[in-house]
Amino acid sequence: MAKSKRDYYEVLGLQRGASEEEIKKAYRRLAKKYHPDLNPGDKEAEARFKEVNEAYEVLSDSQKRARYDQFGHAGVDPNFGGGDPGGGFGFDGFDFDLGDIFSTFFGGAGRRANPNAPRRGSNVVSSVAISFEEAARGCKKQVSAEVISTCGECGGSGAAKGTYPKTCPGCHGTGQQRRQQRTPFGVIQTQTTCPQCRGAGTVIETPCGICRGTGHVRTAKTIGVNIPAGIDDGQVITIRGKGNSGINGGPPGDLQVSVTVRPHPVFERDGYDIWYEMPITFAQAALGAEIEVPTLDGKMTYTIKEGTQPGDIFRLKGKGIPHLNGNRRGDQILKVTIEVPQKLSAEQKKLLRQFEEACGEGNYPRRRSFFKRVKDAFSS
Ligand SMILES: [Zn+2]
Ligand SMILES: [Zn+2]
Repeated sequence: MAKSKRDYYEVLGLQRGASEEEIKKAYRRLAKKYHPDLNPGDKEAEARFKEVNEAYEVLSDSQKRARYDQFGHAGVDPNFGGGDPGGGFGFDGFDFDLGDIFSTFFGGAGRRANPNAPRRGSNVVSSVAISFEEAARGCKKQVSAEVISTCGECGGSGAAKGTYPKTCPGCHGTGQQRRQQRTPFGVIQTQTTCPQCRGAGTVIETPCGICRGTGHVRTAKTIGVNIPAGIDDGQVITIRGKGNSGINGGPPGDLQVSVTVRPHPVFERDGYDIWYEMPITFAQAALGAEIEVPTLDGKMTYTIKEGTQPGDIFRLKGKGIPHLNGNRRGDQILKVTIEVPQKLSAEQKKLLRQFEEACGEGNYPRRRSFFKRVKDAFSS
């Protein structure tokens, strides 16, 4: 990692504020340009291909991109310590609902939640970027996430090792304080959450040095995630119980991993189908030809029929993406484009003129019917 790296935006030829769409487009273009299949044996292209992939992996992931924008390569380099710079414990989901002094006025209706009741931990959100093939075949990925878990030092009590939380002297363990007030309507008793223990009924005299008395720590974890075959860009995988740990013995929350699928240099996904646009020569189209087609299952030979037209579509049944739930697969769709030669020699041009004369208008039914329609439209 000591080797200095190029700026990821520079690698993709983009400005800092580039949109998601621009990043995707630039990646597509460059991945195609440097793809090893298209540059066999070219070490320079291979290195550029890797660089482009690495840049895309970071810039296509909003979390990683934000870290990269702020801290540069150090922000996204896994070897560069994963400390939480702020050290802030934002326990979203640890909702202490404080003081409901009105409950006693209304005979206990709308009672506040017991602060000691078990509560489920909140969910943790993370993300992962995978290749087109990994999405099609399924894969296992290591996903990193910051998860709040029970402090190992104090076992979650929040009290320093060897000490225990004590019964709160303010409320004698009830978590509530009662107060009587004389008013013109008589004596009114109000009950409030004990401010000393915030309703917990216990207080910690010597807080645990690791969790600072909270009983929880935030740690960077790496979690193995099975990504099912057929997953699509933007889908979210939920892993039960891998989120933040629960409170007062409640169950943990979930880990939600949002998946980014990097675009493929030649395949384009449409639902469970894969589109593959294939340029063929004029002669191949006219005469028919056996052509090699890349598929998810490797290369296969496909026979193009005589007289194939530009834009013709052929369906390779069951060569597409596997359905997420089930064993069916989509199709691969071949779309033919015809490349017209541009640099013909005098000899080649002569041959082509001879061919055109010999061929005659009769061999172009589409052209004939088109000109007939034009004539009919303008003759009246
Ligand atoms: Zn108390
Ligand atoms: Zn602790």
